[in-house]
Amino acid sequence: MRPKLIASPYPDGHLVVSPGQEGGIKLGVNKYAELRDAASTAPVPGWLTVAARAKWGMDVTGRDVGDTVMVRPDTPYGYARASYELNLGCNYDCDHCYLGEKLFAGLEWSGRERLLDIMAEAGVLWLQLTGGEPLIDSLFAETLAYAYDLGMMIQISSNGSRLHQEKTLDLLRTYRPYRLTLSLYGATEQSYDGMTRSKGAFKRFMRGLEAAHEAGLAMRINCVLSKHNAHERDEMTAIADRYGIPSFEYTNITPTIHGTGEVLPSQAREVLRRHDPYTGCNAGLTHFHADPHGMASICKIGREEQVNLLDEGVEGLRKLAVIGDRLTTRHGGCTGCTLQKTCGTCMPLANLYRQAKAPLETYCQHGSGPLSASSRGGES
Ligand code: SF4
Ligand code: SF4
Repeated sequence: MRPKLIASPYPDGHLVVSPGQEGGIKLGVNKYAELRDAASTAPVPGWLTVAARAKWGMDVTGRDVGDTVMVRPDTPYGYARASYELNLGCNYDCDHCYLGEKLFAGLEWSGRERLLDIMAEAGVLWLQLTGGEPLIDSLFAETLAYAYDLGMMIQISSNGSRLHQEKTLDLLRTYRPYRLTLSLYGATEQSYDGMTRSKGAFKRFMRGLEAAHEAGLAMRINCVLSKHNAHERDEMTAIADRYGIPSFEYTNITPTIHGTGEVLPSQAREVLRRHDPYTGCNAGLTHFHADPHGMASICKIGREEQVNLLDEGVEGLRKLAVIGDRLTTRHGGCTGCTLQKTCGTCMPLANLYRQAKAPLETYCQHGSGPLSASSRGGES
């Protein structure tokens, strides 16, 4: 069965979502139980018929629950989101790339099945598939289909280089992501091909964007600004606007996941923004990250301590809450700073900058210097 609706627990209660579409319908515990306990041949309840029509314009009148709604079981683990880096390999070689060395390596199929089963048992409803470039991973299609059939809502982060291929579009039409997030690296061949160090990359992106738009895929565009393209920032946003796609600017180049700074010279100083003050996050509590080998960390940035999920199984995730607490509150490298109590800097991120010997004003909320603007920043 490929359900039109998924009823699932999430950390604040229960909700119904629709694969391939944004948004959800909050459910009280009784309505969730009604769906869970319904016979598969029972008709979809009237309240859900009305709500699905109002939310997504979907008509499920007269359909059976069993053919329409997948009910994900309650879970004691409480994770709603995860990201899974299938493979660090990429067909581009961006000089700002926070992955550093991009090795082609990942789990074989049996390991992936186990990892995704663990994620499902942990309660993961929203799963980001990322890389490297996930669409060139040799097991991407199988991974997407398996996660989708487990009842996960899929977001795919991609450089868009394979979207013009009919095979890829067919796959994404069948297993629709609720969001396809595309990184945009310039508004001209010169800047885009220069930033990705790949001839023809801009043309491939534009062909893929057009094809994905025609296929009706739900997209977002991340305009990644660096010294190659900062002068084209308005034109980059205009590309997204032309297709009616929401866009966001990523202005701050971060050190690599290994804490090295060779990528930092690609920063365009004129667009650098102060990071939003860190006010706490649920990294390791309600969301986590898995690398290509099934090693779980609290998030993509805080990878210093990892749990081998294939060895430890779903119970291993319980360690992440403690690790998250330790990593997000530790001010080890800030010894002597009298402002620690009011620090608004995400510590795992600050730690990477420190290891990379980046200037203090590029990451510390109390730093002074050229960053006077306080606005939304981001990592690329
Ligand atoms: S930034 Fe993205 S597209 Fe560029 S090399 Fe890294 S993974 Fe590939
Ligand atoms: S980078 Fe910092 S703020 Fe973001 S999820 Fe990780 S710990 Fe939380």
